[in-house]
Order: sequence, then C-alpha cells, then structure tokens
Amino acid sequence: MSKVRTRFAPSPTGFMHVGNLRTGLYAYLTAKSQGGQFVLRIEDTDQERLVEGAVDVIYRTLDRVGLKHDEGPNIGGPYEPYVQSQRLETYRPYAEQLVREGKAYYCFCTKERLEQLHEQGFGGYDRHCRELPREEVQRLLEAGTPYVIRQKVPLTGSTTFKDAVFGEITIENKEIEDQVLIKADGYPTYNFANVIDDHLMSITHVVRGCEYLTSTPKYQMLYEALGWEQPTYIHLPLIMGRNEDGTTSKLAKRHGSTSFEGLVQDGYLPEVITNYIALLGWAPKDNQEIFSLEELVKSFSIDRISKSPAVFDYDKLNWFNGEY
Ligand code: GLU
Ligand code: ZN
Repeated sequence: MSKVRTRFAPSPTGFMHVGNLRTGLYAYLTAKSQGGQFVLRIEDTDQERLVEGAVDVIYRTLDRVGLKHDEGPNIGGPYEPYVQSQRLETYRPYAEQLVREGKAYYCFCTKERLEQLHEQGFGGYDRHCRELPREEVQRLLEAGTPYVIRQKVPLTGSTTFKDAVFGEITIENKEIEDQVLIKADGYPTYNFANVIDDHLMSITHVVRGCEYLTSTPKYQMLYEALGWEQPTYIHLPLIMGRNEDGTTSKLAKRHGSTSFEGLVQDGYLPEVITNYIALLGWAPKDNQEIFSLEELVKSFSIDRISKSPAVFDYDKLNWFNGEY
C-alpha cells in the first residue's frame, strides 16, 4: 500500500475553534500513527469569506500544539504550507478537460435568471445550458459573455461511498445539481479545488468534520469524472456543549471559550487542551486518559473513532488541568 498521507485544509474564515483543532489533530494522528505524512493546505478561494488574521491564528495554534506539517511548495524548507490562492492556475485546466470530454459545460445564465429560478421555487439549477449547441457556445464565448463551468451530473442512478466512521452513504444522483467548478470570476469553487488538490497532493485519507458527510457524493462524482482513485473518507462526530438544563446542543460560545487561544487565555495549558480534544470522538484501548502528543501517536487508530456526538465538558477539562 502507498504511504499514508493526510492533510489539514482549514479555510481562514474564522478562528481556530475546538472542532478545527480536533480535525487537524486527528489528521495528524492518522498519518503519524501509520508512519505517514501530514500536509497543511490553506483553502482560501472564497475571497468574500476571508477573515483578516485568521491564517496567522491557524499557524500559531498548530505551532503551539506541535502539529508540524511535512511538506510544502518550497521543497528544502522551511516548509510553507500550500495556499490555494497562490496556485489558482492549477485548477482551470482540469475543468476545461472535462468540458472537452463532454463531462462539464459552460453555463452563461445570468445571476438574475438564477435568482428567478430560485423565486419560482426551483431547488437549484435547471440545467438550462447543458445541451446548448456548439455554435451557440462559441458565439457567446466570442462575445465575451461571462460564464461558469458546471459539471454534468448523471441524471439517473445513485452514488454510494463508504465512510470509515459513518459507514455506507447513498444519494440519488438526480438530487445533486450540476455543480459549479469554475466561478464567473475565474476562481475554482471550494469543492473543485479541494478535490484537485487532494489528488495532486496524493492524499490517501481525508479527515474532516461530519458537516461534509452529505456533500461527499459530490466529491465522489468529481473523482469519477476525472478518472481518479478516491481517498478514504474519515468524517468526525459532532462536538456538543452542555446547556444549563443538562441537554446538549452544538458547541457554541455561550457554553464557554471554544477557540484554542480563548482556552489558553482562560488558563488551560496547550498540552491539556490537546489531550482533552484528542478524546472528543476517539477512545483509547485501555483506560489511559493522560496522553502526550507522542503517546497519542502511538495509541491512535482510526477504528476507535466514534460516530456518536462527543460532549465538550468544561468540568472534565478542569480535571485534566489539575492533573498536569
Ligand atoms: N476547508 C474546509 C474547512 O475549513 C475543510 C474541508 C475538508 O477538509 O475537506 O472546513
Ligand atoms: Zn446556464
């Protein structure tokens, strides 16, 4: 089998919260527990959602926790991470290739038309430009009409994939819209760049939060269209917080500090936070609770990741802090 390669692919659209850090940590542990490599990739193609300073927080946090990446574009080091906005020319040729192969097409629909569809209650895009005559496409291109490139998603059948944690997931193809690959501004969409980069970076295991579970068939359709082998998917369980009345709901600020730096400011040691976060969705074989990063690397295994939501318990975190 080829060497295990994982990546952490944060979007700098917010600040490193507990969930982001756990994703990075599990990706690191998945690679390192199998003698593999860990890649860091900043996914910043959605220019409208960028938050200033967010990239620096990501670098600082990974550095303090000790999640070192193994590789970057400037071979020979010091290793810079991959940054998608610095490799924009990478993506378009693959979309153009799909157009030539009849697996994608130029869509010239205006924003107004798409909004109208939406207002008429049409869920998604109506594939209007999917079968435009070639001469018409040529004419519109020559006239400089703005366009996006969309994938021709199969109209029948279903797509199934097996997640290492959540098991088999199936979706009917007709429920997936002809997804945009290249936007009108020439930038790749988030999903498209993600798939191209995972392939080019030889990623074998994709570790990410379960909010991506239901969109993974879209990624799979892209792998199929491009004729590439898919990585193994490892989606991680939700992280919940405990409410005052004892119920749980998705971890949010009202539960307490939810960012790594916020927790450090509250007085928790980085090692304590890392140790505690490692146990939010993964259970060691024995009853050991206190782990250094090196010990986590030795003990970690994918098959002990749970799909049940994990509860971020501040009392438990306090207990950990006392043990260090
Ligand atoms: N860029 C995504 C995020 O920050 C991660 C997606 C992935 O890991 O595939 O949530
Ligand atoms: Zn169109």
